[in-house]
Amino acid sequence: MMAGAPVLRLDPDNPDPVVVEHAAALLRRGGLVAFPTETVYGLGANALDPIAVAAIYTAKGRPAWNPVIAHVPDAAAARLLTRQWPPAADCLAAAFWPGPLTVVLPKAAHLPDVATAGLDAVAVRVPAHPVALALLRAVGVPIAAPSANRFTQVSPTTAQHVQASLGDRVGLILDGGPSRVGIESTVVDLTGPDAVILRPGMISAADIALALRGSGVAVRSVTTTVRHDAAGDAPAQRSPGMADRHYAPRADVWLFDPEQQPEIAAALTVALAARNPATGRVTALLRTTTLSLPDGTIVRMPDEPAAYARELYAALHAADAADASLIVIERPPDDDRWAGLRDRLARASR
Ligand code: AMP
Ligand code: MG
Repeated sequence: MMAGAPVLRLDPDNPDPVVVEHAAALLRRGGLVAFPTETVYGLGANALDPIAVAAIYTAKGRPAWNPVIAHVPDAAAARLLTRQWPPAADCLAAAFWPGPLTVVLPKAAHLPDVATAGLDAVAVRVPAHPVALALLRAVGVPIAAPSANRFTQVSPTTAQHVQASLGDRVGLILDGGPSRVGIESTVVDLTGPDAVILRPGMISAADIALALRGSGVAVRSVTTTVRHDAAGDAPAQRSPGMADRHYAPRADVWLFDPEQQPEIAAALTVALAARNPATGRVTALLRTTTLSLPDGTIVRMPDEPAAYARELYAALHAADAADASLIVIERPPDDDRWAGLRDRLARASR
């Protein structure tokens, strides 16, 4: 592994305040600190310091039109970053914070434009990881943080993933163990009359609809209507982060449904028989099917979405590390609890 940023290990249940203060001081000086959250590891900078936030974009190679999430220690701090705080925001904050849900609201004037990629709305979240919360309380400013990986790569769920991707571009990496949720937060836009899911995640549309029941706010996703009890036919503003290739391993990714197992097995046989080194090494992430792979790795994935999410990115990182040129993935069921995972798998295969 390349020489890189210092990695400081913290007990997630009892983070050492001396280490936390060291990281907070680095952030206050305009530095970049990678830190654990329950979704994925974040690449953090002081959200109120435009030069520090700009350094995130340089380190990741992330285009300037792709906004980052502002992380705060509680709902009161979130509210300070917004100009409007509708009742629906209170409902979602009460139901899901700290946790893997991001809300998008009209931004407060004092938040630099670079943190929202010039948009008039800010995305805010209270993360549930004790190290992230300790850091946010110690630093006393919101932390702007996208995932701590280079642009288009698979998001990191361990400090080792961060070190491998950004180790030479970050001042410090806090290691708080593997991320418990494992994929990025659900992003909900509350700037219009409906709650619009811009990015699905492990908090599902049904969970959000339940938290908003009785509020008169309907829940939609950018593609499907989940519940509709209020007028509002304006098309949702798509999240700028959603259009591009994201979350992708280096290998080609083939997705297949369980019914397509014979076709995938045949296609693999052809690809392997061609002995093309470009299709030689295969990793398969399977749930219910079997495949025979003379030259490759089969990863048996969990049946349950939360466990699947916890393991997915580590499996994709391992495939990259093993130099797989093809990853074959059995698609999970088409139901709401798997929506975030189906979204990430579709993006990985683009
Ligand atoms: P990442 O940190 O890599 O998970 O990316 C952050 C994502 O949050 C972006 O790609 C968007 O999907 C979303 N996001 C951040 N800020 C905004 C915003 N102001 N409006 C809409 N979506 C946002
Ligand atoms: Mg990302």
